[in-house]
Amino acid sequence: MKNVIFIAPPAAGKGTQSDKLVEKYGYVHISTGDILRYAVKEESELGLKVKSYLDRGKFVTDSIMINLIKDTLMNINKPFILDGYPRTLKQARALTNILEELNISDYKVIFLDVSEDIAMKRALGRMVCSHCKRSYNKYFEELKPKTSGICNKCGHKLEVRTDDNKQSFKTRFEDYLSEIASILEYYKKKELLIDINAENSDKKIFCDIIKELNND
Ligand SMILES: [Zn+2]
Repeated sequence: MKNVIFIAPPAAGKGTQSDKLVEKYGYVHISTGDILRYAVKEESELGLKVKSYLDRGKFVTDSIMINLIKDTLMNINKPFILDGYPRTLKQARALTNILEELNISDYKVIFLDVSEDIAMKRALGRMVCSHCKRSYNKYFEELKPKTSGICNKCGHKLEVRTDDNKQSFKTRFEDYLSEIASILEYYKKKELLIDINAENSDKKIFCDIIKELNND
């Protein structure tokens, strides 16, 4: 299977799709957050640098981050999903160089394409059972609980889990899209971009992704 660079706006379903790739196809999920936490824990040379940035409440520099990603990719012998990187065109270019250095050419950039309206309903309508953690959504017929606010499976109360309201979600969504517009263009020109319609069901989205990853 091809390696994956995952790009998706908030609430596009990236987490769900990553989990499925890990479960069913043995992908390793690499998120920038995990890489940073791991480096700090390991107390490597880079890790100590990372810690000094984080302790001061600062973002690590691009050069530290790309080196951490390089170290991580060097030590992986399974297909990977890179999540949360790149976020800028400069980072995308740096990543291209690293992948070339490591002789990794078998990858695709998957963009989960979803309208703001659907993403917002997914994010704001989501409810989770306080007991069995099953999730529901009040905006989608097939995901509504049978009794409002109550879990179908175990009868416990459903909780809303979001810090967003409409306005904050809208801002977050639009900021993200403008941030990544140049990256999408960059990968499109390189013919690495796969645009997936992420308004379909999770199952259909997953099938579409797999089809593309098996394509040559
Ligand atoms: Zn439940």
